[in-house]
Amino acid sequence: MRRNFLTSYLLDILFPRFCIKCGREGLYICSDCDIFTSEAPPVCPSCGMPSIFGKTHQSCYINKKLDGLTSIWDYDSVIRDALRSIKYKGLFHITEELIERLISVMTKNPEQFTKFISLLEDKDVIITFVPIHKYKKKQRGFDQAEILANHIAILGNKKPIKLLERTRQTQSQFGLDKKERINNIKDAFSFVGEINIKKVIIVDDIWTSGATMQECCRVLKEVGIKEVWGFTLARA
Ligand SMILES: [Zn+2]
Ligand SMILES: [Zn+2]
Repeated sequence: MRRNFLTSYLLDILFPRFCIKCGREGLYICSDCDIFTSEAPPVCPSCGMPSIFGKTHQSCYINKKLDGLTSIWDYDSVIRDALRSIKYKGLFHITEELIERLISVMTKNPEQFTKFISLLEDKDVIITFVPIHKYKKKQRGFDQAEILANHIAILGNKKPIKLLERTRQTQSQFGLDKKERINNIKDAFSFVGEINIKKVIIVDDIWTSGATMQECCRVLKEVGIKEVWGFTLARA
């Protein structure tokens, strides 16, 4: 998981890290600017109210919805800037630093992440991601959710598997209300994995309304996958 010395050294020469907030060299989020990150409390992905481990409340569960959601930080301040820098400036090495931080968040509060960690370590669980459209990937050069899924999978000693394909280009979800987001993303994914998968963790960078991830979950459950858990670095 950890970068070895040589890779680390080369990376730092090629891509010196500067704090996203204050510009100091060394880390993307320096120790002083760490105070601008806030951890996201676990909530039910259906109603957004507090829930143990981020499990969907029994009363909120509707057919083919996510079974739960794990998010690490609130999507604001320096975390928002970090995720935007990955997506729009191509600074995807920030992901590695965020993964190091995520490990320390989880170690500090292991009870909150019990369910997620047990899924990560479950041999029946496949790690996958919310894909961007292949044209967008070609244009951007990478898929940030795929990169993130690679790192998350390593934590569980796994390799991520692509289970979904974006079959059409969708309008940006930005500025749309929840209903418009659901319509915009409807039928935008198709299943490209193998049958006989039991459980999945689906990875993305940000949870906003949840429309995209719930739609991915629906497609996964349509093919018979029993349990689908969402993971995002940040939650808006
Ligand atoms: Zn700083
Ligand atoms: Zn609920």
